[in-house]
Amino acid sequence: MAGVARKKSVALLSIQGETRRRLLVNGIVQGVGFRPFVYRLAVGQGLTGFIRNTASGVAIEVQGRAALLDSFCGALQSELPPLARIETIEERVIDCVAEESFVIGDSTAGSEVETLIPPDIALCDDCRRELLDPANRRFRYPFINCTNCGPRYTIVGRLPYDRPSTSMHSFTMCPECEREYHNPLDRRFHAQPNACAVCGPSLLLLDSAGKPLAGDAVVEAVALLEKGMIVALKGLGGFHLAVDARNEAAVQQLRERKGREAKPFAVMMRDLAVVKRFCEVSDDERDALISPEAPVVLLKKRKSGALAPSVAPDNDRLGVMLPYTPLHTLLFDGCLDVLVMTSANFSEEPIVNENDEALSRLTGIADAFLLHNRPIYLKCDDSVTIHLAGKLRQIRRSRGYVPAPISLCKAGAVVLGTGGELKNTVTLLKGAHALMSQHIGDMKNFEAYRHFEQVVAHLQHLFQATPELIVHDLHPAYITTQWAERQQIPTLGVQHHHAHLVACLAENRVDEPTIGLILDGTGYGTDGTIWGGEVLIGDVAGVERFASLESMPLPGGDVAVMQPWRLALGYLHRSCANLPDLPFMQGRNIEQVLELLDKRVNVVETSSCGRLFDAVAALCNLRGDITYEGEAAIALMHAAGGIVGDKAFRYELREENGRWMMCFSPMIQEIVAVLQHGISTSEISQRFHRTLITCFRDIIEKASKATGLSTVALSGGVFQNELLFITLLHELQQAGYRVLTHAHVPSNDGGLSLGQAVIGRHVLG
Ligand code: ZN
Ligand code: ZN
Ligand code: FE
Repeated sequence: MAGVARKKSVALLSIQGETRRRLLVNGIVQGVGFRPFVYRLAVGQGLTGFIRNTASGVAIEVQGRAALLDSFCGALQSELPPLARIETIEERVIDCVAEESFVIGDSTAGSEVETLIPPDIALCDDCRRELLDPANRRFRYPFINCTNCGPRYTIVGRLPYDRPSTSMHSFTMCPECEREYHNPLDRRFHAQPNACAVCGPSLLLLDSAGKPLAGDAVVEAVALLEKGMIVALKGLGGFHLAVDARNEAAVQQLRERKGREAKPFAVMMRDLAVVKRFCEVSDDERDALISPEAPVVLLKKRKSGALAPSVAPDNDRLGVMLPYTPLHTLLFDGCLDVLVMTSANFSEEPIVNENDEALSRLTGIADAFLLHNRPIYLKCDDSVTIHLAGKLRQIRRSRGYVPAPISLCKAGAVVLGTGGELKNTVTLLKGAHALMSQHIGDMKNFEAYRHFEQVVAHLQHLFQATPELIVHDLHPAYITTQWAERQQIPTLGVQHHHAHLVACLAENRVDEPTIGLILDGTGYGTDGTIWGGEVLIGDVAGVERFASLESMPLPGGDVAVMQPWRLALGYLHRSCANLPDLPFMQGRNIEQVLELLDKRVNVVETSSCGRLFDAVAALCNLRGDITYEGEAAIALMHAAGGIVGDKAFRYELREENGRWMMCFSPMIQEIVAVLQHGISTSEISQRFHRTLITCFRDIIEKASKATGLSTVALSGGVFQNELLFITLLHELQQAGYRVLTHAHVPSNDGGLSLGQAVIGRHVLG
């Protein structure tokens, strides 16, 4: 601000007591109606000057009496349009000029891009009203949008965010659209995707063989859905597969064709009234559903709802979202009120995003294809959230949130975090912003790998940032690790659970040593074994492994992850002197696995907390095999019926070579005993949760005594278990700890890349 003082001290050219100020505004200020807002503000105050998009935000010059300028500057912050977000304003006094009006200038393309692209935004109320108004010229036009809503991130190719930079560049506006686009007082002023039926994108309905179907595409697609057909829909960030969620046969058909046995489907419901018929909805959950981000919210099911049972089997929650595009709104115009709306992909692959790809890859799955001709530059899945302990928490942070930045405590070097293997995301740090990517998927499949490369390139291009350092997981076999090592940029390997802890610290803007309780599925340890139930003490600079779960054998390594019965056998083999005979063993090749365990062949040691859940679920005969990660653990939590028992099983805290071991062998022995006495799995699950919570409280107390620290950070995928999370959080807070949790960033591996990048930046100094 030295410039202000210097400038003020010299005599400035002044016109009749007026002064002129130059404001450089940074943040989410493009594509969100910011310029018309400023225009109206300036014109309303009788000020002259201009506003212009630049590659680093917007530049405003305003001229008038000082008092009016002050009120202009105040209103700039206090009356901001709903989607705009100001990060910084640089202000200085400059020479007055002779001029008569306030104008909106053309954009300038600069070299240094610091502005922020907004995320894709759900249909706004004004556009919804027009969409359903027979008198409006956009009546039933499925691509209606304005400066307050519509696609952004998924259609932008470069900056500044102007029409030629978007996938709308091939559509030339008709005179009426053009008029709106250039009228600063219009809601569509510089709305880049502005279009109408005359000039904009259009729909096309094809049958399963790719032949066009006659009639109105939406009406015909709805008719097919009503008949129980599966329709592939091109949406905002990619394709969905839609099917009537009340039609059990149709939903089962979708499961069969998609090869998805049990993992719950998300649904889209017509409106809040429908949601309330099927689910319990708190005020906070309602706010999340109707927010401009319009995520999937995991809601508690009502017992009475008449949805097809196979939509979300064995789950007391249902993933629900509201229609967020005009096309969705039109689909619910008839008698359909709930549709399964699942990403069109194969298990754990990224969402399909283009017409050709959909036709070639979804043949045999979809009965029809509802396509459009507005290209999607970057695919983006739906976000998944849950409201727990007073906050909306991200499980999958994607559409609606990405690429809005996570604000960090301080600025520093440009660093890229490449994430892990499952639920991959990448994070680019630039300035004081962490730019986290959308959900990319399971890196083991080739499509996800291609998406990963695209997203990395796109983020770097969009934010004009080349990393000085690429950070990856320590696991040498991870595809993200191998990719990092192939780049011509220095790399750093970071331990998985250290990254989890730092992701939690960064999100909470905490920069001090903390007791980290990291409960996770799988993470490569510094000793070559698999970690996942850790108490790490430290911060961004490094951690000490204060405690961990006692190691247990994983017979068959990775295979055991999808076959929890093998895990259960491993835990029994380690915990019990004599192998008991339990129902879960029936029909299993026990001998073969025992031989592996005896000979210690193909057996990996793990302190994973996720695997402990899986093993206990298998012991209780809840799930011997699973079809998706977390299935057994969810079944075990489900069995507890929302109750944490009063009485813990036995466990032991033992110090070994300077590290505490949380030993659950005594618990395994007790569970075997109670199983043989016919105690219900629901009681076992309740006591199991109590045991873990008590043990974690014990070990945290030890850590606190040993270090004098009283801040605890909770991270790792196991914290998606709401029973464990809420109870532990509550009890730790009651005990006087300050507890840091995840909300904006997933606690699962989707948050890993943030922690990696922040650690990398620290190492660069
Ligand atoms: Zn709108
Ligand atoms: Zn038009
Ligand atoms: Fe993890």
